[in-house]
Amino acid sequence: MKITFFGAAGEVGRSCIMVSTKNTNILLDAGVKLGEKIEYPQISEDQLRHMDGIFLSHAHLDHVGFLPHIYSAGYKGHFFATKPTIEVSNVMISDYIRLSNPVSVTKKGLAEQARHSKIVEYYKEFRFRDLSIKFIPAGHILGSALIEVSDGKSRVAYTGDISLSKTRLLEGADVRNITADTLITESTYAAKRDVFPNEKLVTRDMAKSMKDTLTAGGKVIVPSFAVGRAQEVLFLLDDYINSGVLPKVPVYVDGMINKVMRIYRHNVIYCRKELQSKILMSDYDPFKSPNFVPVETKGTRNKIVNDQEAAIIVTTSGMLTGGPVMFYLSKLAKDSLNKMLLVGYQAVGTMGRALQEGSKSIFMNGKEMRIEMNVNTFHLSAHADRPQLESLMNKVKGLQNVMIVHGEISKSKELREYASRKWEAKVPLIKESYEV
Ligand SMILES: [Zn+2]
Ligand SMILES: [Zn+2]
Repeated sequence: MKITFFGAAGEVGRSCIMVSTKNTNILLDAGVKLGEKIEYPQISEDQLRHMDGIFLSHAHLDHVGFLPHIYSAGYKGHFFATKPTIEVSNVMISDYIRLSNPVSVTKKGLAEQARHSKIVEYYKEFRFRDLSIKFIPAGHILGSALIEVSDGKSRVAYTGDISLSKTRLLEGADVRNITADTLITESTYAAKRDVFPNEKLVTRDMAKSMKDTLTAGGKVIVPSFAVGRAQEVLFLLDDYINSGVLPKVPVYVDGMINKVMRIYRHNVIYCRKELQSKILMSDYDPFKSPNFVPVETKGTRNKIVNDQEAAIIVTTSGMLTGGPVMFYLSKLAKDSLNKMLLVGYQAVGTMGRALQEGSKSIFMNGKEMRIEMNVNTFHLSAHADRPQLESLMNKVKGLQNVMIVHGEISKSKELREYASRKWEAKVPLIKESYEV
């Protein structure tokens, strides 16, 4: 098989990998890179039209955002993903189209995309032309998958985004039975120093930090990705409020998070068993917690920022690149009583990263704004850290080649240093191909 990298090579964003045999070309993921400008995978429209199938690891836009572009370019085949990935992708993609209105996406392309989804079940290996393909739970967000592709001679496993530890909502990736001679692995947190502290300690410190602000009457903003982090954070807050660790304040939920919560709820079968039985066996449904207050109108938004009461606001986007969080930031950042908690990945060049690194002023709508509110980082990652990535590689049976993608280049290279002691290890560049 031949593997070609069209994106996420030496960067985080626009994941798009082609796996080819003599008769078949498929794509693993079809993402965009969101930043000041949107970047697309470096693949030609002609190549896209000749693709036979598209297989998606999970519903984040850096893995699925390119899909409408592909159908608009004239691709006529199917895309394959788990049920939650298909449902969440629809929400993510329509939001992406609404906000950025990309010129190369056509109405016809969107309609074609809507007609061409195929649901894949975890663990059921299936034939696709001369390939066999299997999806394994990847523990990153609801429906996320590690994808194995084999042509009968060699076998490739692609992690997508992966996490080995279980969370409030999800089991960790199932890495007990991965057999592959080539592993294509993400490396978001692959540097030697990327060792996550114990999550219990992190959430304890986070609760303390929130409590300080709330009891002083301040507001806490938690910017979050709509999918994954937001649900984990909301469940955590719900626990803390119900058990009295945090004062009983409203938790305002603004943006796409509300819609995604509903998709999580009706796909609860993809969540941890403990959560399923909690909902079945008791009257309590954390998805519908009375602590959560969905924000549906501009009027409510204004009321929240003008009110004197303490509150928590969980809203998109996670890296402060747009979304309702910008409104809250513009109104609440000037007051040192308030606080912002960063709980997810902050990409280089984003406002989230600047604040994380201690920047005391930002530019918003062309105007400079002082940041008086405190900004704290609490690491609640949905990605594997360095020890998990090492453990993952060591668990893959028959491993020979490791290809390291989806990471800042310095981090990918640090992981290569480790991997090359045992296997053939590469950090591919965009448009590079390898025979495996
Ligand atoms: Zn992801
Ligand atoms: Zn990703």
